[in-house]
Amino acid sequence: MLRTIITQGDPVLNKVSHPVTKFDQKLWDLLDDMRETLTQSNGVGLAAPQVGILRRVVLVINANDEVLELINPTIIHTEGEQEGLEGCLSVPGKWGNVKRPMKVRVRAQDRNGQWFEVEDEELTARCFCHELDHLDGHLFSELADRLYTSEELDAMMAEEE
Ligand code: ZN
Repeated sequence: MLRTIITQGDPVLNKVSHPVTKFDQKLWDLLDDMRETLTQSNGVGLAAPQVGILRRVVLVINANDEVLELINPTIIHTEGEQEGLEGCLSVPGKWGNVKRPMKVRVRAQDRNGQWFEVEDEELTARCFCHELDHLDGHLFSELADRLYTSEELDAMMAEEE
């Protein structure tokens, strides 16, 4: 079932999400719905608070198009730095430059409660950071100097050519 993605201005996006304690059908339904919603919206990541659920649940699509389900995730190691444009399904039509680590290692639970670790770099590392920030009520726009519209980005690209 598709869930509605809430957008900036909704106070839910600024709240801290609660840990998941029950790995039951309700969680699995949420994960399946989030997967459908994420795929449908052409995003690369989605956090539960973006569909109005204040639980520490995140989906990230990696460079191999695999959907990673991260429950109660924490970042346990980072390396390097990257700066690049970031957007968010909850901040539609806006992008901004954000600095993130180049490589990120995350510890999380799967849908059955088993702990595992996953490490990735570049866009997926950026996505880990972005989605985990949602669980603490933070949006990428807080980290960007300014936000650009797609028209402004097109104009900037044209100038660089
Ligand atoms: Zn986001």
